[in-house]
Amino acid sequence: MHDIGIAHWADDLMHWAEDIDRDLPWKSTTDPYKIWISEIILQQTQVSQGKAYYLNFIQEFPTIEALANAEIQKVLKVWQGLGYYSRARHLHKASIFLRDNFNSKLPSNYTSLRSLPGIGDYTAGAILSFAFDLPFPAIDSNVIRFISRLFGIFNHPSSKQNLEALKSKIIPGFDTFRPSLLNQALIDFGALMCTPSTPKCSECPFNQRCYAYTHEAVAELPVKKKKIVKRSRYFHYFMITDDKNVVLNHRDNTDIWRGLTEFPLIETEDDLFDSTEAIKIINEKMGIHHLNITLKQIESKRQLLTHQIIHGKIYHMYVKKIIKIKEPYFLADRQKVSTFAFPKILTDCIHLWVDVV
Ligand code: SF4
Repeated sequence: MHDIGIAHWADDLMHWAEDIDRDLPWKSTTDPYKIWISEIILQQTQVSQGKAYYLNFIQEFPTIEALANAEIQKVLKVWQGLGYYSRARHLHKASIFLRDNFNSKLPSNYTSLRSLPGIGDYTAGAILSFAFDLPFPAIDSNVIRFISRLFGIFNHPSSKQNLEALKSKIIPGFDTFRPSLLNQALIDFGALMCTPSTPKCSECPFNQRCYAYTHEAVAELPVKKKKIVKRSRYFHYFMITDDKNVVLNHRDNTDIWRGLTEFPLIETEDDLFDSTEAIKIINEKMGIHHLNITLKQIESKRQLLTHQIIHGKIYHMYVKKIIKIKEPYFLADRQKVSTFAFPKILTDCIHLWVDVV
């Protein structure tokens, strides 16, 4: 590993950071709850999009207690569109635990924070340093990229050895600089200067000492994770309506989008779809018996997840009057359909629901 001396690089980094002003709402607070929420939201979205979600989330649930007392469906609704719904469920679960055991406060020690659902090494470091100014690194992808390139760290990206190597470079800097400021400067430098594909090496204050730049290894660092082979799944959704209601279903606990609401769904092995067979299934599974049912495809969408590609098709089916429906399906008032939390593949088509419903 290339060693350039912590004192000098941290000095130069903090000097660079003096001119940086990223005006983000969570940067001007030391409230541990707000920092926690912002960090979880930013794990899965761009800063520009995350800002609106953060402000909305804090407005809906201004305290740990407010979040803990909310219905999970309400939390999922506010989270709708961000994806990774398990993170919203973890936030809710952790807030209940904090309300019941920590007087609705986040603890200021690493072990207690790490024991909470959804709080990993990065989030714990961010809360401890940004809220309490304690000497813990907050190593996100920006910091991994910058420090790996600067020092020439070639470890396996998700290994414990890699995390320890990165920490060993950062921690001595806390002897000289406030943890909140040094961690923020590291994140900002990775986000603004040492970017993934076109880092600003020619204007970088480290370019004469940077391992990656001086060894022409910028593209090789940080070491990349192996590409995940994604599985294709084919979802056929049925928007079944009469004049007043639409048929809905809550997803079960064993698959993606746990707890979200959706239209009745048939999953097939490939894109091929037999509408006669589908109508038979709808009759048997939902107890909707009607002569001359016709299905009309109204939309086709694709959604990429970490390990899967969802190919979704949405069909409309009008039934004159739905008298009863078999569980777990239920009838919802068509006018109130937007109060439920749906997966993105369905919310993307909401304009069509409004037209058809
Ligand atoms: S010289 Fe380039 S690769 Fe090295 S730290 Fe600076 S921006 Fe990153």
